[in-house]
Amino acid sequence: MSLQPPGAAVNILDRESLPCALCGGERFVVVLSGARDWIGARPGEFTLARCEGCGLIATRPRPTRAALALYYEGAYSGSGDAGLAEHELGVKGPGRLVNGYRLHVIDQLRKLGENDTLLDVGCSYGGLMWLARKRAGCATVGVDLDEGALNAAHKHPRASYHHGVLTELGLEAGRFNLITFMECLEHDLSPVETLREAKRLLAEGGVIAIEVPCWEGLWRPIFGRFWLPLLMPQHLHHFSPASLRACVEAAGLEVIDQRAMFFPAEATLSLGQALGAALGLPAPGAAQSAAQRVLGGVIGLVLALFWLFVELPAQLLMWLLNRTGHMMLIARAPQASPR
Ligand SMILES: [Zn+2]
Repeated sequence: MSLQPPGAAVNILDRESLPCALCGGERFVVVLSGARDWIGARPGEFTLARCEGCGLIATRPRPTRAALALYYEGAYSGSGDAGLAEHELGVKGPGRLVNGYRLHVIDQLRKLGENDTLLDVGCSYGGLMWLARKRAGCATVGVDLDEGALNAAHKHPRASYHHGVLTELGLEAGRFNLITFMECLEHDLSPVETLREAKRLLAEGGVIAIEVPCWEGLWRPIFGRFWLPLLMPQHLHHFSPASLRACVEAAGLEVIDQRAMFFPAEATLSLGQALGAALGLPAPGAAQSAAQRVLGGVIGLVLALFWLFVELPAQLLMWLLNRTGHMMLIARAPQASPR
C-alpha cells in the first residue's frame, strides 16, 4: 500500500485544510510561518497554527496525502538499502543508544518478558524491535509506511512487518503488551484515531509508549523555523505536554507517566540547519564546490565546539527542568474501578 492513490496526477504543492484532529475545531491562530523542507530542499513553505478550541498545533494548510508521499520519497530509506551499515540499522552507535534509553524508560513502568509481543509503529529498520528481542526475548511486530526501510529491516523468526497505516491494517485486537510510537505520532494524519486503534490492539495490562518532539522545549523559540524537530513537512502535528495528554485521553487511554527525554543533539543540528540555510549551502548529500566543502568543514568545527560547550550543559539543565525538545508519554487502558 502507498500513501498515493494509483493513477492520480499529483502536484507536490497540493494542500488541504481540515478541522482540528483533536477537537474538530475550525478556528486557528498562526504560531509559525516560513518553515521549509531544509533537509530535502523540496518546494513549499509551511505555516503552523494552534487550534483555539484545544491548543493542538498542526501544519495548516497541510500537504494532501498524495503530496506527502512525494515529500517522503527517499526521505528515510533512500536508495542505498542494500548496503546499510550496522549503525544505520540501530545495532551500533547512536541509534542503539537512543533505543536502549527508550526501552530503559519504558521498562520502569512495564517490563517486557519473553511471552510478550511488542508492536512498534513507525519501526523503520526495526532497531527498537531488535534491541527489545535481544533484551527480553519478546516477539516483535513492526509497522511502517516506508517499504524500502521494511525491505532492509532486521529479519528474525520473532519479527514480522506490515507495510501501511496502522488504522488500515486490521491487526488482531488485544494482541500486544507494548505498543510504541517513537517519533511517529507527529507524522500521523489522524493521531487520535491512530491511538484509538492502538487501544483496541492493547492486551490486558499492556502499555502504549509515545515519544514526540515537544513544542514547549526551550530551544524551539530560539531556533524558530530552523528548529530541527519541526521536520517540515513530514511532521503534521506539534504537541505540547498538555495537547499530547489530551490526544491520549481523547482516545480513551489513561496517562501513567510523562517526562522529558535527554537527547543532546537538537540545538547543534538546528544550528547546522540555520547556518546551512543562511550561507546557501546545498542540501545534505548534494554536490558541493571546493569552497563549499571548506566552508562545511569550518561549520563542522563550530558545531563540534557548540555541542561540547553549549548543547551538553544546556540539555542537562533543560532535562532537569523537564523542558527538552522531546518527551515520552506512557499510557494504558483505564483500569476497571473497584466495587
Ligand atoms: Zn482542537
